[in-house]
Amino acid sequence: MTELLFRGATVYTTQGPGDVDVRVVDGVITEVEPRGSLRGRTVDVSGKWLLPGAIDVHVHSRDPGFPEKEDFGSLTEAAAAGGVTTVIDMPNTVPAVDSAGVLEAKAALARAKARVDFGLWALIRSSSSPDQLQTLAAAGATGFKAYLGYGFDGARKQLLYAAESDDPGLEAPPDYGTLARLGPALASIGLPVAIHAEDPAILNTFKRPYETYADVLASRPPEAESVAISASAAVARQCGFHLHVAHVSSARGLASAEEAIAAGTRLTIETCPQFLWRSDADYPRLGNTMKMNPPVRTMADQVALREGLRRGAIGVVATDHAPHTDEEKGRDLEHALPGTPGVQTLYLSCLELAQQMGDPWLAPRWVSKGPAALAGIAQRKGRIAPGYDADLVLVDPKRFTTFTPHGMRSRQKHGALDGLRVSFAIESVYLRGVRVGTHAAGRMVPPTG
Ligand SMILES: [Zn+2]
Repeated sequence: MTELLFRGATVYTTQGPGDVDVRVVDGVITEVEPRGSLRGRTVDVSGKWLLPGAIDVHVHSRDPGFPEKEDFGSLTEAAAAGGVTTVIDMPNTVPAVDSAGVLEAKAALARAKARVDFGLWALIRSSSSPDQLQTLAAAGATGFKAYLGYGFDGARKQLLYAAESDDPGLEAPPDYGTLARLGPALASIGLPVAIHAEDPAILNTFKRPYETYADVLASRPPEAESVAISASAAVARQCGFHLHVAHVSSARGLASAEEAIAAGTRLTIETCPQFLWRSDADYPRLGNTMKMNPPVRTMADQVALREGLRRGAIGVVATDHAPHTDEEKGRDLEHALPGTPGVQTLYLSCLELAQQMGDPWLAPRWVSKGPAALAGIAQRKGRIAPGYDADLVLVDPKRFTTFTPHGMRSRQKHGALDGLRVSFAIESVYLRGVRVGTHAAGRMVPPTG
């Protein structure tokens, strides 16, 4: 039996921040009691904050498929360094996760390398059958992801970027019809259905060459996001499945999502630190590091998303950690690949934002409690309470951190938050009671309802 007793920290408890002792036995929190009331050999964490580990529900490990960009080892090392103790990996690895067999093989590969716990999203293809979705769920998928507008190369088993999807030899992208056809099965399975919400018809209409960042914004207008959300939500509402809108980037997208919720849709909203901290005004300084889909938009969008987060409309902040090599990011604006790493800076950037809003203790809700509910693991992760996994992050609220490429553990060192200075530092991180280090210790955490 291994036992830890944390004493002296201000702890994020289910009743809010409190001065309590936390006992951990064999990786599980067994007691949370008033400070000084528990006996045992203590770990003195005076003056620090003890928070539940973050769950980043939107990462791209690139493994298997593109190990030169990232693999499950480097991804989860970066996660662990940033206080992210669970990652949920997107299914557009190669081969794409479109069957139970592929999911099981990916889980085995991830298990051998993971430094933190993990879950796996499964891919919805326009050709997916209800039976395939059932077997993916039975194999432990966290949920399903539909990339509206992204074609599929069946020979290479690879999801393509929307720009590459016009070849008639490719399998058509999933659309609202796909969601309607699979909707009854998705509703009965009960897992969340995440969408990449950019309407392909609107993107095609407004498409123009990228010479300046203004061309990016004109080519991918917020209407593309709001229409994709409204249409998908209409299908979700009729069929009764849980729609999760990934990486909401615009005020209009947020408004459409909130309208759908008000109309009775079971819908959850995710946004990302890059949309909360950056705007088009940062492009001259950051360059293609901040090129991604959907794009970082205007200051008005940033303000609306912050406001949505503050009032609780947005329940999940995730990173869309999406590494590409320096060569792929260093091309001109038109040809640079979209996406940027971010898993390591999730927690601290959210603590800083929450602090600026007047309550830093909001951050664990956005990165831990909300994501745990989405991923179906809220019975064992996302809280500091008896019976929960001892996924714990010790934060020093008196030490500053500046995000620099030098400090990044991802295989790719750049990030959209480069240069941001936050008034917190990660002191140490525990995964199920074990301080994270070099030992591969991650487990798959399938949803339990
Ligand atoms: Zn993504």
